[in-house]
Amino acid sequence: MKLTKLKNEFLSLFFPAKCACCQKIILPSEEICAFCKEKLEFIEEKRCLKCGMGESFCECRFNIFRFDGIVAPFYNTSAVQKGIYNAKFRGHISAHNFFIKQMCLVADKYFGDLSFDAVTFVPPSKKRILEHGYNQSEILAKGVARHLKVPVFNLLKRVGKSKTQHEIGKYKERFENVRGTYSTRGSEAFKNVLLIDDIKTTGATLNECARRLKLSGVQNVYCLTAAVTNPRLKKPES
Ligand SMILES: [Zn+2]
Ligand SMILES: [Zn+2]
Repeated sequence: MKLTKLKNEFLSLFFPAKCACCQKIILPSEEICAFCKEKLEFIEEKRCLKCGMGESFCECRFNIFRFDGIVAPFYNTSAVQKGIYNAKFRGHISAHNFFIKQMCLVADKYFGDLSFDAVTFVPPSKKRILEHGYNQSEILAKGVARHLKVPVFNLLKRVGKSKTQHEIGKYKERFENVRGTYSTRGSEAFKNVLLIDDIKTTGATLNECARRLKLSGVQNVYCLTAAVTNPRLKKPES
């Protein structure tokens, strides 16, 4: 134990610890800086597991999702948005690890009674993989799966072309845009699947992935993301 601490302190001289959200240098014992810590918006404990929002923000009257439940640790605002950006576009390990840890905490708390046969993730477009060289959802899925001791499988494949979701403003159009853009492979072997993505915005992508998985024979699909967008909270700072 002491040796590990010594090793960490030695390494921190060359590779200083950085805030998972803003990447400022922090003490090796910290995960995020005090500024970002204050800005984290945790989803309320009393929450709706059908849409993932805090109880007072439940949006189930607008939409009935095909997945059976969803949890996330955070709302997608300021510091969290920065952290997800750093994980997604810059591949910062401290950001990935921070979100994986927080996702595991809510998975244990809200999905602790469920037993999953497989963990899977939302596949990105080929263009996205070429841009980043990796799939952020897959990294998050692998981290969560290790904690849950459930194997990860690449059960979904992108087949059709769709516009990137942030190019489409309207709620309903986002659901239409993704319809038919995923196919499944090997998912028929599983009963309870945990589906991972970085952010639930409208839920259209997760909804379509869950629909396809269920068409293939999966009985229950639960979702876990790092954050959910709450349109009633102030827009994330850029
Ligand atoms: Zn910070
Ligand atoms: Zn709800």
